[in-house]
Amino acid sequence: MATILDGKAHADRMLESVRLGVEDRKAKGLRAPGLAVVLVGDDPASHVYVRNKSAACAKVGITSIEHRLNADTPQAVLDALIDRLNADSEVDGILVQLPLPKGLDSKEALHRISPAKDVDGFHPMNQGLLLEGLPGLRPCTPSACMSLLAHHGVDLKGLRAVVLGRSEIVGKPMALMLLEQHATVTIAHSRTKDLPGVCREADLLVAAVGRPGLVEGSWIKPGAVVVDVGINRIEDPALGQRIFAAEPRKLETLRSKGAVLCGDVRFGEAMLVASAVTPVPGGVGPLTIAGLLTNALMAANA
Ligand code: NDP
Repeated sequence: MATILDGKAHADRMLESVRLGVEDRKAKGLRAPGLAVVLVGDDPASHVYVRNKSAACAKVGITSIEHRLNADTPQAVLDALIDRLNADSEVDGILVQLPLPKGLDSKEALHRISPAKDVDGFHPMNQGLLLEGLPGLRPCTPSACMSLLAHHGVDLKGLRAVVLGRSEIVGKPMALMLLEQHATVTIAHSRTKDLPGVCREADLLVAAVGRPGLVEGSWIKPGAVVVDVGINRIEDPALGQRIFAAEPRKLETLRSKGAVLCGDVRFGEAMLVASAVTPVPGGVGPLTIAGLLTNALMAANA
């Protein structure tokens, strides 16, 4: 049976380290880091994320300031708010919660954030620094995954790593961070031929696809480490029957509650083949907020 890589426990460690960093600032007479969170529209999932982020800020002593805008806010108003936050000396980090409502250009908004306050690490300047292997604010999810792997002593040097997914927020930066740590990295995506075969070569498999249960146990090399970034909510009982064959408890939750969260990897099957696996929920999910607050502290200290 594989070891479960407990993301919640590691997130708590990361948050404790941020809390100590904030205390340290205060001991030096500096103010608490300030994180501005911009939430546009009524997306229920975004509201939950923003609430969780505010609660985490409160726990570690970061001042979080929420800015709520209506879904029909014009781009110029959003841009003007970002400009104001860029100029505000009390604000160290700016986060624009994605997705933005239709009619707003998320690239334009993200590129407008000052790179020094870009706690999501999505600005081209920070992405460029990552590409060059230089310090900067790095995307929270992959950097927190790297922290988890380091904590568990996964030696990445020379390892064959496969990153499934090539998004700018997870797949590509994850691949660059693994490369920086001397892994031999393959990036796979929707056009990759023989995806199961490519995955089977991986000593470390990172799945960031958004397809529930795509990665079957037979795709995993025996003894591999599996990091499942995907967060999918499924309601379809037929899909549940297919992907939860080795996870009766998930199937039961789906039956009783009508919906269940799962990753891109069939967790029950992976547990029988891999050496270590992150669960969903409780794996990468909690790490992302911890990565964000780590960045907020870093931005304040810069
Ligand atoms: P995107 O939709 O931006 O990217 C998905 C990637 O997966 C694309 O590169 C796409 O390929 C690839 N892909 C899609 N379908 C397949 C397939 N059938 N076979 C192979 N590759 C495929 O997603 P994100 O990177 O933003 O997020 C991925 C997952 O991670 C989602 O479930 C998301 O909810 C979750 N997530 C979780 C976070 C956390 O905190 N744990 C944070 C961020 C994301 P192509 O480029 O060819 O289209």
